[in-house]
Amino acid sequence: MNVQGNYQEIRKKITAICERTGRNTEDVKVIAVTKYVSIERAKEAIDVGVQHLGENRDEGLNSKYQEIGEKAIWHFIGSLQTRKVKTIIDKVEYIHSLDRLSLAQEINKRASRPIKCFLQVNVSGEESKHGCSPDEVEGLVTEMEPLSNIEIVGLMTMAPFTDNKEHIRTCFKQLKVLQQKVQALQLSKAPCQELSMGMSNDYEIAIEEGATFIRIGTSLVGNENGGV
Ligand SMILES: *Cc1c(COP(=O)(O)O)cnc(C)c1O
Repeated sequence: MNVQGNYQEIRKKITAICERTGRNTEDVKVIAVTKYVSIERAKEAIDVGVQHLGENRDEGLNSKYQEIGEKAIWHFIGSLQTRKVKTIIDKVEYIHSLDRLSLAQEINKRASRPIKCFLQVNVSGEESKHGCSPDEVEGLVTEMEPLSNIEIVGLMTMAPFTDNKEHIRTCFKQLKVLQQKVQALQLSKAPCQELSMGMSNDYEIAIEEGATFIRIGTSLVGNENGGV
């Protein structure tokens, strides 16, 4: 595992795709997903220049935050139980897994500052996936508008479990269409300028389709539980 080499490889791909599609490389940010790896490995990512770290469990976030703290910008990317909000809220800048009003209300209540949230959408419709359904998006965003500590910075999705690249691409395109619908509502608390999509296996497609945050675990920091 060579985090530096992996990061250079990913940056090269970002640059190439951005040149080809007329996007700015600065508009594609890399989140190192450290859920499968040690604190040491997460620190390595910071040392090679990654600014954003993502965790999907409160335990993982808290233990890594204790060591790394403000050296990273923290993203919570996993499904979030309402009762866990208070354990992470002071540490995270972004939550990618907002999918229901009750969770937004709890975040709003516990936060001492506005939290940048992504509404997670289950575009693929797979049962195993979290997220609201595509037809709930506009209603939820509108209902969240009065919550002063909730800022809907964008939408997040996870691609379906498939090798069918065109199916994956279709899901990412659908998220972009939903983003445009939210933007058209012109809500002051929902600028919705970001798209969080793309993981190790599909981030290149995601960038082609407009991702602004890609969430990469295995291909960047590896998987100490048996993967790379
Ligand atoms: C684990 C995870 C990732 C990263 O997955 P890799 O395939 O290892 O890159 C990204 N997003 C979410 C929500 C995850 O849970």
